Amino acid sequence: MPDWSEIVANIVKASGEPLDTPTARPVGGGSINQAYVVEGDGHRYFVKLNRNHLLDMFEAEAEGLNEMRSANAIKVPAPICYGTSGSEAYIALEYIAFGGSGGGQKLGEQLAVLHKKTWDHFGWHRENTIGSTPQPNTPTDNWADFYRQYRLGFQLELATRNGGAHLMRNGERLMAELDAFFADHHPVPSLLHGDLWGGNYSTDQDGNPVIFDPATYYGDREADIAMTELFGGFPREFYSAYNEVWPLDEGYSTRKTLYNLYHVINHFNLFGGGYLSQADRMIGSLLSEIR
Ligand code: ADP
Repeated sequence: MPDWSEIVANIVKASGEPLDTPTARPVGGGSINQAYVVEGDGHRYFVKLNRNHLLDMFEAEAEGLNEMRSANAIKVPAPICYGTSGSEAYIALEYIAFGGSGGGQKLGEQLAVLHKKTWDHFGWHRENTIGSTPQPNTPTDNWADFYRQYRLGFQLELATRNGGAHLMRNGERLMAELDAFFADHHPVPSLLHGDLWGGNYSTDQDGNPVIFDPATYYGDREADIAMTELFGGFPREFYSAYNEVWPLDEGYSTRKTLYNLYHVINHFNLFGGGYLSQADRMIGSLLSEIR
């Protein structure tokens, strides 16, 4: 257990708000970290804990949240502070009361605005994580090169070490042919959430969509849209509203498989099981597109 008084003292210092007689109560929901609500004096914070060697992961999360907040496009919880206490690392965030409904249309409009924030390169100024897997973001000028080396190639290497070596044979062919998917599609480096599945989006009590728990970098905006379709859960209005603001390019449905392949291999690397055969089928289907 961490020393809560140390965490509370840091929250008070960073926020400038008092937090007398605070309580820390565990809440469920997180897939990677243990989550708590810390409150007192009418102030409330959402605190995530993990082992102290993962401090870097929380530092990257705080920077990713701030990067998205700087776009002024969509509601994102403010990071308050992060650090270590005993054997634990922690991050404290602004607490957001969820429970509203009907945020799908706004989410579509606002995500398109987030994606209009661009950078000079694909990647980011630092590494972060996707789930708990490291995610390299080395700035790169060519999107296909970035996706080949730092997304597919990186996960395929990990899969090889995790018992999925046979993915590599077709995976290498796919990487060699990757340019074929970008003959008529030249994305700009858009600010991405990076891990936009249904569990990382919610609606606050005023009906505002909120996105959190990012794996931020600058990349093809279609990668964010593709992930919303991987596990479902995003309303139809979300897609129509997004397309009204910034229509997707032709050929998205093929690239969707290419982008979700990254997450499926990552799921194999994190959880094993049937994700391996799913990744294998996706690679087969992508190769058949370019033969
Ligand atoms: P993990 O990093 O462990 O996956 P998440 O950041 O996804 O954890 O948070 C887990 C759950 O906690 C979310 O699904 C959401 O319901 C809730 N949550 C996340 N951030 C906040 C916040 N700032 N305020 C209130 N609840 C939050």
